[in-house]
Amino acid sequence: MLPRSREDHLRQRPPRTQNSRPRDRRDPTSLDGGAELFRLAPIHIGLLEIRGTFFSGGGSPRVASYTPVQHTYPGNPLPPPCWISQFFDHVTNGKTHRAQDVDYYNSNTNKGLATPYGTPVYAAEGGTVVAEASGNGPAAQGYPACAGQNMPANYVKIQGSDGYYTVYVHVTPTVATGVHVNQGQQIGVTDNSGCQLGGHIHMRRTDPSGTPVNFKLPCVNPLPTNNFADGVVDDDVPDNI
Ligand SMILES: [Zn+2]
Repeated sequence: MLPRSREDHLRQRPPRTQNSRPRDRRDPTSLDGGAELFRLAPIHIGLLEIRGTFFSGGGSPRVASYTPVQHTYPGNPLPPPCWISQFFDHVTNGKTHRAQDVDYYNSNTNKGLATPYGTPVYAAEGGTVVAEASGNGPAAQGYPACAGQNMPANYVKIQGSDGYYTVYVHVTPTVATGVHVNQGQQIGVTDNSGCQLGGHIHMRRTDPSGTPVNFKLPCVNPLPTNNFADGVVDDDVPDNI
């Protein structure tokens, strides 16, 4: 009896093992298909996603098209790494945000982090300070009640050698009008001026006629992917600065 039962046991085991192995190979056909997909075109898939996402050419329906980037700044306006909490063309407070909101990067949440007031602000590129404002405090009603009231904010406005302007808003200037600044030079500190939800730079670029243009910064999220705003900071800034 013992030898038989051992034999039976041994006989039964191999079939189970043999049966289970082919099952694993045959059943998950999706695994094979998926592996082939990845092998075929990992780069092409990435390119398609970028095009679709950035220019709404068939990508995520959650992302609208937006103004193409026309300039890349060589420097970071805040101590790095920085994070774009609100991109150019994001609609907020009932109007289109023709600027980018720059703050700290929180690696724990993979989002922005409100920048402490008093954080140094650096010129993202060199130029001449053509205007600046100081002495403006926070909006009395606070955010978001202050939205739409064109509350004045402090800022530094710099004209580059190409004639384009860069304005850094919610910033107390540490440089005077007429001064030339180099990229990376401190131009001010973040402050609580104007209508804003939390500390950050509302950074805007315009052509010589004052028309806002889109741009790119060396931040963790330099361009929109699947969202235009993470909601960490927000503001409402007059468009005529
Ligand atoms: Zn802003």
